[in-house]
Amino acid sequence: MIGAGVVGLSVAEELLSHGLTVTVFDRQRAGREASWAGAGILPPGSRYSSHPAIEELAALSDPLNERLSQRLREFTGLDDGFWRCGALYFAGDDRQHRELAAMYDRWRGRGIAVNVIDQADLADLAPYASDELERFAAEGRAHYVPSESQARNPRRLRALTALCQAWGGRVIEHSEVVEIAESPEQVTLRLADGDRFVAGRVVIANGAWASRFLPQRDGIDWVRPVRGQMLLLSRPESIEPLGMNLHVGPHYLAPRTDGRVLAGATVEEAAFDKSTTAAGCGRLLHFVNQTGLGGLRLEQAWAGLRPATADELPLIGPASERTYVAAGHFRAGLQFASATAMLIREQMLGQPPTMDVSPFRIDR
Ligand SMILES: Cc1cc2nc3c(=O)[nH]c(=O)nc-3n(C[C@H](O)[C@H](O)[C@H](O)COP(=O)(O)OP(=O)(O)OC[C@H]3O[C@@H](n4cnc5c(N)ncnc54)[C@H](O)[C@@H]3O)c2cc1C
Repeated sequence: MIGAGVVGLSVAEELLSHGLTVTVFDRQRAGREASWAGAGILPPGSRYSSHPAIEELAALSDPLNERLSQRLREFTGLDDGFWRCGALYFAGDDRQHRELAAMYDRWRGRGIAVNVIDQADLADLAPYASDELERFAAEGRAHYVPSESQARNPRRLRALTALCQAWGGRVIEHSEVVEIAESPEQVTLRLADGDRFVAGRVVIANGAWASRFLPQRDGIDWVRPVRGQMLLLSRPESIEPLGMNLHVGPHYLAPRTDGRVLAGATVEEAAFDKSTTAAGCGRLLHFVNQTGLGGLRLEQAWAGLRPATADELPLIGPASERTYVAAGHFRAGLQFASATAMLIREQMLGQPPTMDVSPFRIDR
């Protein structure tokens, strides 16, 4: 496995639990890139894509995420903070209203509860809400989704690493893969320190850096980095706990049970630059203030690089005879990692497919 982000570790854990021998390489500490930076929001359906295959991936993911959390607790004793907290969604303008209406239709079609809320409901669910959020509720632009969840990314990553090791897998940190050479019999990975590692198969799961090992498509890289900046805020006692996630257009708040609140996220083309900027943090602070939570205290800011593909569909499947790819999950890698792991395992072991994976193939 090349890459110990949430995708690589989830695929490794799935393969290990089905009896395969797996070694995971990461060029730094496990899980310290996009997977660490993310907000941990696990919507019950597809939030950012209306593609039917992504909605199906989301349907597979929802129960798998809860089950993974239980398995992690059972076998490692580590709690990843999985919490079915629910979420409020607000449409800030007509375009967002249309996009969200289409999303609600898709979700309701799958039996997911999406309830329109009025000002009185909002006062119960989010007593801190600003006049602007109240206006959205008065205009029928506020909805409550009780089944949305979240998990704590660093905890899930630590627990996944521990579970891989518990199944006998090796997670080798600070070891960069620089080349893959495939022959009919085996794959040989060349490492940055000059060592070689021979395996039966390799999975490319190194997130925004996956293009290094993939041929270009129509002259462009398969996977590119898309920067996301995030703020960590803390809640003074004068502000009541936020009981659920909150989304307004592209921005969101994800409250933690320890009183902290994540505010995200920017979506920026900035190549591999992980800087936080005045403009990016400024937009997020403006959003926090708009919700009525201007009293939250700023603690920290960071940025991560989401792995994005041009058509916004992930790559999940074989790239050649012995090389597989699990990358390009863009804004939903935490949400889709377990389902991705299942689909890779089915393809690798020749098992009956749970869903049609042709939209995720590299030859699509
Ligand atoms: C600000 C932000 C908020 C987000 N919020 C959410 C959210 O709420 N919900 C959600 O589902 N998703 C969210 N995402 C998206 C999600 O974080 C990503 O889709 C996901 O983390 C991608 O996981 P990955 O394992 O593919 O990549 P990564 O986590 O980036 O892991 C790739 C790993 O590969 C390693 N690597 C790279 N090159 C090599 C090499 N040559 N050799 C060895 N190792 C290598 C890296 O060190 C890294 O550890 C968010 C992302 C960001 C940035």
